[in-house]
Amino acid sequence: MAIYKIKLLDRKMVAKDTMLFTFEKPAGFTFKAGQWGDFTLTNPSETDDEGNVRGFSIASPPSSDKIMITTRLRSTAFKRVIQKTPIGTEITLDAPHGSFTLHHNQAIPAVFIAGGIGITPVRSILLQAIADKLSHKIYLFYFDHNSKTMAFLEELQILEKQSSNFKFIPITTSLEGPNTTWSGETGHINCKILSKYIVDLAAPIYYVSGPAAMVTAAHKELNECGIDDDLIRTEEFSGY
Ligand SMILES: Cc1cc2nc3c(=O)[nH]c(=O)nc-3n(C[C@H](O)[C@H](O)[C@H](O)COP(=O)(O)OP(=O)(O)OC[C@H]3O[C@@H](n4cnc5c(N)ncnc54)[C@H](O)[C@@H]3O)c2cc1C
Repeated sequence: MAIYKIKLLDRKMVAKDTMLFTFEKPAGFTFKAGQWGDFTLTNPSETDDEGNVRGFSIASPPSSDKIMITTRLRSTAFKRVIQKTPIGTEITLDAPHGSFTLHHNQAIPAVFIAGGIGITPVRSILLQAIADKLSHKIYLFYFDHNSKTMAFLEELQILEKQSSNFKFIPITTSLEGPNTTWSGETGHINCKILSKYIVDLAAPIYYVSGPAAMVTAAHKELNECGIDDDLIRTEEFSGY
């Protein structure tokens, strides 16, 4: 791991209250799909007690010549400043960190359970697996409030159509608001929904990412489905 200066190239909304930031990838920077970095604002126009640093998973794959992150916009000094930072501004990246990376044995399926913004490392892993033509069977159970809050929903739906190894299961956690016309799955993680798509629940390796409370709940539920801790890997987004 090392410290880099990275230039902001672009930003755009990709879901309700959710912004994608694209940065220049510095020369010599390498990482594994699923890893994260500490992003520090330089001379921010305002700060608060939570400081100028946030850890973000890299949402782009290593094969990309850019670095992308995606975050929920909330009313904290860091988030207020980053969404107004002029294009071309440099910020500091301390990376890569973490071991939430895809297993090597391509005969073992991978099941991703992403809660909300926990989709970010999964996107990186999935895009890199497709770029590398890996033969893992990949299932993605993507839980979020509704279809408007799901970042990358359309992109993931297209990828599922293009890749026979990828099964995408978006799941809204309620049937209210924008979900009244939702025709997909609804609910929370449980053995019934997993068994509907996975024949042998003991065969895959499970990857759970998202806010800490969601990761804890999903981990417990996987255990209740008889899935051993040896088969479960987690990435907790502390701070939510
Ligand atoms: C490995 C990892 C990957 C992450 N990836 C993403 C991502 O891709 N997208 C994204 O939006 N967010 C991600 N997060 C969460 C992110 O770092 C911020 O915490 C989150 O975006 C909330 O920031 P805020 O400014 O909105 O809230 P704030 O209320 O300001 O909270 C964030 C601050 O509180 C601290 N904090 C609060 N609770 C805890 C806790 N339980 N443990 C440690 N520190 C805590 C954090 O260090 C941070 O300084 C990730 C976190 C981790 C650890």
